[in-house]
Amino acid sequence: MAVRIITEERAERIARSIACSHCLEYSFKKLRVRRAPESHKAELKTAWIATRTCGVCGHEQEIGLDPHGEVIYGS
Ligand SMILES: [Zn+2]
Repeated sequence: MAVRIITEERAERIARSIACSHCLEYSFKKLRVRRAPESHKAELKTAWIATRTCGVCGHEQEIGLDPHGEVIYGS
């Protein structure tokens, strides 16, 4: 059974809607979303990986989203 995965656009919107884990702001100067590698998909159930840099404190963070757009991890 194929799992429906949210679009890249939606994954990016979700990644933007999560506050910086460091300063709790929502301003990101860099945000990139890419498909998770196969190993991630199997082990972590991750479909998308967002990497972003906070525009306020400069904190770099990686967020993993599952096929439905739920956050699997964020560091
Ligand atoms: Zn920040």
